[in-house]
Amino acid sequence: MTAKIIDGKAIAAQVRQRAKERAFELFEKTGKKVRLAVVMVGDNPASEIYVRNKIKACEEAGIESQSFRLPSDTSEEKIIELVDRLDSDKFTHGILVQLPLPKGIDERKVLERISPQKDVDGFHAVNAGNLMLGNKCLTACTPQGCIELIRSTGAQIEGKNAVVVGRSNIVGKPMAMLLLQNNATVTIAHSKTENLASITSRADILVAAVGKKEFITGAMIKPGAIVIDVGMNRCDGKLYGDVKFDEAERVASFITPVPGGVGPMTIAMLLKNTVTAAENA
Ligand code: NDP
Repeated sequence: MTAKIIDGKAIAAQVRQRAKERAFELFEKTGKKVRLAVVMVGDNPASEIYVRNKIKACEEAGIESQSFRLPSDTSEEKIIELVDRLDSDKFTHGILVQLPLPKGIDERKVLERISPQKDVDGFHAVNAGNLMLGNKCLTACTPQGCIELIRSTGAQIEGKNAVVVGRSNIVGKPMAMLLLQNNATVTIAHSKTENLASITSRADILVAAVGKKEFITGAMIKPGAIVIDVGMNRCDGKLYGDVKFDEAERVASFITPVPGGVGPMTIAMLLKNTVTAAENA
């Protein structure tokens, strides 16, 4: 079996197009221009690329973006001051604080200053809690994108065994919640999980969000599984996923490539969340 490649770029393009249309409709109806503020602290090279891509995507979707770059020695107080200012600005509908923040800055404290209505990353405790409760909310972009990629295969999620490897607050946990909402039977694995391969090899849907280059091998995958690779591991200037692609594609039925799989969807969902925040404002 050779897996079909899930084309994240093409699916993301459709989501972005829809976000663009909604932003335009909102402007036509209310004169309101959708605006996203992006805050970046320090000069992490990977963050630079992400921020640049997000701003470019906003431009293409007719969403105004404002970027705020602060030096790496900016105090927590100053960052919070900026977030508070953006939060009370009625022309700003979404606020994104690019992570990671420099050492010594309490990320949680900063993220919690964004009001849940402007939290387009879906990281605020209120949004995370609402996701858990099954309430409508701004949902974390990467897991939302993964669900769209799984849906694009035409396979049913309901009743399937889904395994998420990774339990971070920004990917693993919200991913598991979304799969549960879609009636999958969900297992979350993490670094303390014993016999990981015996768990992953039962997964009809396998989501890898580990942050370790090519960690999931072909032998860990159930034949015919849908494999979603969230990992973005830079090594010698090249980007690698968490899944050993050449092995996995011989076992899986569908697989996302890295790059060109989950990454473009994360940005597309950010645009979607930003337009939603503006519509709700
Ligand atoms: P974190 O480092 O926050 O979380 C990694 C998770 O993997 C943890 O829960 C950890 O377990 C688990 N883990 C580590 N080692 C093992 C192991 N040996 N066996 C099983 N589980 C293990 O990473 P993120 O969730 O933020 O990101 C994961 C990956 O996804 C990264 O490569 C990141 O770059 C990428 N990413 C990609 C995005 C995209 O748009 N494509 C967006 C966001 C992230 P424990 O909790 O026990 O420590």
